[in-house]
Amino acid sequence: MKHEGSALPPYLHMDNGELWLTEDDRDNLKISYRIKEVIFAEPSEYQHVMILDSYDFGRMLVLDGVVQTTSIDGHIYNEMISHVPLQFHPEAKRVLIIGGGDCGAARETAKYAHLEAIDMVEIDEKVVRACKEHLPAVSGNLSDPRVRFVYDDGVVFVQEKENVYDVIMIDSSDPVGPAEALFSPEFYANVHRALKADGLMVCQSQSPIFHLDILKRTYRNIRELFPHVLVYTAVVPTYPGGLWSFTIGSKRPLDFPAQTTIPNDTKYVNDAVFRQCFALPEFLRSALEVE
Ligand code: SAM
Repeated sequence: MKHEGSALPPYLHMDNGELWLTEDDRDNLKISYRIKEVIFAEPSEYQHVMILDSYDFGRMLVLDGVVQTTSIDGHIYNEMISHVPLQFHPEAKRVLIIGGGDCGAARETAKYAHLEAIDMVEIDEKVVRACKEHLPAVSGNLSDPRVRFVYDDGVVFVQEKENVYDVIMIDSSDPVGPAEALFSPEFYANVHRALKADGLMVCQSQSPIFHLDILKRTYRNIRELFPHVLVYTAVVPTYPGGLWSFTIGSKRPLDFPAQTTIPNDTKYVNDAVFRQCFALPEFLRSALEVE
């Protein structure tokens, strides 16, 4: 899709004959990516969906102008949100992924042979279709019969579930628009109920640098429900601030396994990364301790 002369999709602009995406993170921070080509751009019922081919990050999924995942660094986030929690539940059978439309978390989760069912509840079918067709570096060729796609609001889906899942992964976009309710205490309470008696959940809990307030609130909400809580981090270059956080809430003790079961085809997570990702920088450790 070339754009000389034709109307540009929203969030893109031309500068000296070059195409740019500018992510409008906040009043004082805008992040721009030089774009080779617009691969896909359509509004859905929920958000504006684009797959862009960028110079430095390859193909990227962009929702409402915000970069969600890219060919170059998407594996960091997707491996961290899936392999890390699964190490604490080696007997897990049923996994629920809420959001995760790029399919990267489902692709990583499907690497565990002991899992019998992986339900993926994504509100926006258009995101899944666009990623499967145009972003295979992230989505892979996901055709595992254990993965069941449900196109529904994750908030509504968990309201009706009780004692069903061993692990729930909340792979949401930022807490605006359809994902806002995925950060609410009521939603976490429903996730808690949807888990089995020894189940655990993980969510992406935003940037410790720019959204420490959201991370602290998320940590507090999860700690009120779950006896065992751990925060861990990874660096994802396309997320504002780079450093990103994840929070695990668990009904079972979070004992570190003597041996991990991380598959040997990962690109980021390995045994050493699993063990060190819980080491929190001092500003973050003390911010959570005073909670
Ligand atoms: N890795 C990404 C990040 O942290 O920026 C996010 C991954 S994924 C693309 C987020 C997905 O959550 C989107 O596809 C979006 O459609 C989906 N989503 C947002 N709100 C949702 C809801 N209420 N129920 C289910 N899925 C939702």
